[in-house]
Amino acid sequence: MYIMVTGGSGFIGANLCRRLLAAGHRVLCVDNNYTGSYDNIQPLVDNERFAFVEHDVCVPFADWPQLSGAENKLDQIYNLACPASPPAYQGVHSIETTKTCVLGAINVLDLALKHDATVLQASTSEVYGDPLVSPQSEDYRGNVNPNGIRSCYDEGKRCAESLFFDYARHKGAKVKVIRIFNTYGPFMDPNDGRVVSNFICQALQGQDLTVYGRGQQTRSFCFIDDLVSGMTLMMNSDPHFQGPVNLGNPHEFTILELASKVLELIPNCQSRLIYKDLPLDDPQRRRPDITLAKSRLRWEPRVPLVEGLKLSIPYFTQKLRARGLTLAADL
Ligand code: NAD
Ligand code: UDP
Repeated sequence: MYIMVTGGSGFIGANLCRRLLAAGHRVLCVDNNYTGSYDNIQPLVDNERFAFVEHDVCVPFADWPQLSGAENKLDQIYNLACPASPPAYQGVHSIETTKTCVLGAINVLDLALKHDATVLQASTSEVYGDPLVSPQSEDYRGNVNPNGIRSCYDEGKRCAESLFFDYARHKGAKVKVIRIFNTYGPFMDPNDGRVVSNFICQALQGQDLTVYGRGQQTRSFCFIDDLVSGMTLMMNSDPHFQGPVNLGNPHEFTILELASKVLELIPNCQSRLIYKDLPLDDPQRRRPDITLAKSRLRWEPRVPLVEGLKLSIPYFTQKLRARGLTLAADL
């Protein structure tokens, strides 16, 4: 198949592009490299089945050579373009974030209609906001602040979901919507500010781990390989199954539990915990109900948190060394 991945040079996208190439597909990666990095896809550019176009999804797709002619008809589009880390999507970038969610959705949906391609939206557990029920199942409508500092992302993603289902209802678009819960692993940007990358990189450098609030808030962490399996299963599932479907690991940990697991896994680590202010509107609980994914996709995560952290630490070690940073283990 010929498959477009928007946001393909980001964390999830870089992993997905590799999986799709390994399965024998042609991949067109589209990204403006805001939070993604060309380094993540540079090893792929020699593959004749891979192409990269630098493009902002807020701008409609043009008749690029990669999208012209019968041989370049897209079969599938994964729409991943959007910063996912709170520091990257908030602040001065917040308006761009909403535009990316909404205009990006419209532009990929129009492209999907033109190519008669199936299009999958990377939605998020953030559509549940700071949830009042746990675990969160797909029929929970959420508890979202409509005008807080996370709203650019939460409401942008909610609007994108509504666009996907309206394009399906009114224009016959072939859509799929997944709601991704906190995912981690190789190809995350060490500086992107999310908790797993922060804790591992801080511990590797012998710095104190920054716990926001008291660290009693919970998240459910999914290893990237499990997520990518769920994404491809959803994309290739029964066309009548549009979702939304939760994809995440249902094992819930407090942030303090995550910190202690990271500290145990880094040899001779001298780091301690320091406590910082809890960001506004930071959700207190996050745990997916994956009953629907289990029954419709026969999917559930296989990699426990400690195993996933062990698989991730060598990647971050290599990234920090490549940046010339001193690691505690080298002292
Ligand atoms: P990421 O920041 O590593 O990747 C996002 C990619 O999108 C980057 O390469 C970035 O440059 C690109 N991008 C941003 N704005 C763009 C624009 N206007 N035009 C083109 N490209 C643009 O984040 P990620 O973790 O890989 O997330 C990928 C997708 O999955 C996002 O849509 C995110 O909302 C969703 N998601 C991720 C998680 C998670 O835990 N990683 C959880 C829920 C949802
Ligand atoms: N967090 C933390 N220290 C950090 C980064 C994040 O304690 O260095 C907390 C953050 O406040 C949140 C949780 O970890 O409660 C997950 O944060 P992340 O940014 O990874 O994802 P999200 O909030 O989008 O789930």
